[in-house]
Amino acid sequence: MSPTPSAPTRDRLRIAIQKKGRLADPARALLTACGLSWRESRDKLFCFGESLPVDLLLVRDDDIPGLIADGVCDLGIVGFNELDEQAKARRQIGLADAYQPLRALPFGECRLMLGIPEEWEWSGVQMLQGKRIATSYPAILTAWLAERGIAAEVVELSGSVEIAPRLGTADLIADLVSSGATLRANQLKPVEVLMDSTAVLAGPVEELTDIRAGLIAMLLRRLDGITATREQKLLMFDAAEQALPAISALLPAGSELIRLPGNGVTLRLQAMCQTGLSWQQLEEIERAGGSNLMVLAVEKSLA
Ligand code: ATP
Ligand code: ZN
Repeated sequence: MSPTPSAPTRDRLRIAIQKKGRLADPARALLTACGLSWRESRDKLFCFGESLPVDLLLVRDDDIPGLIADGVCDLGIVGFNELDEQAKARRQIGLADAYQPLRALPFGECRLMLGIPEEWEWSGVQMLQGKRIATSYPAILTAWLAERGIAAEVVELSGSVEIAPRLGTADLIADLVSSGATLRANQLKPVEVLMDSTAVLAGPVEELTDIRAGLIAMLLRRLDGITATREQKLLMFDAAEQALPAISALLPAGSELIRLPGNGVTLRLQAMCQTGLSWQQLEEIERAGGSNLMVLAVEKSLA
């Protein structure tokens, strides 16, 4: 696929997601939860959007920032680590920013960390002076070292970074860590966090002006709705008027209490709670005068 120099007007939105790997399934699941569906199977490079004019391009995660920069894709789901690495690499060679994270997504959590040999005693960043550090994130590491005034050699490796110290090609590493098991298996220990990362929905710096702008706005609204409702619960209960102050005090902060039409003696109420309710909270509400308690999960909300 050849890059498009000046993004042409299109009437369909194109989203790049990882074809295979850690972000592939959660990215698809999230877009499906946003009401999108596609005709093609997951093995194909291109999936034609059926429910909406939104197509998918299945690629390597490393290619996603570039596809957005070139205007081949309008949005992408990629790790912030990858997006930021490529953004910093662009800046280091004097290129203007071409993409930006639009939303953080609730998956792909990891940290870019320094890992040192287990037998080393970590005494702070100054001990990195003159050391060789292997990483797949040279631009982030270079910027991080420069901010701290450390002169160290950045050894760029595209994979198997964690074996570099044992091979003697580096003294220590900067690599992605989620549980730390890979580091331990290679006799390394994590000592310093360079970056906390999650998957993000990324888009171009320059806003689109054609029909795709409306599609992006709709997608963001649906995404925000999903994120906002993850924890939201609707509590329904009956109570007498005089019990309301005590019950209100027991509801999670920010809960919105609404009176429903009732028989006049006992009030029928509902509370939209921004967080879940524990058994203990529900029992306390009962003791304070609430009855017929029912907790409902909120599936969708455009509030
Ligand atoms: P591709 O073939 O698409 O280039 P990859 O090997 O670069 O795949 P994955 O290992 O699937 O990519 O990781 C994709 C993203 O998942 C990472 O960039 C990062 O944002 C996130 N991630 C979460 N936890 C980890 C982890 N423990 N190690 C590596 N990446 C992680
Ligand atoms: Zn990759």
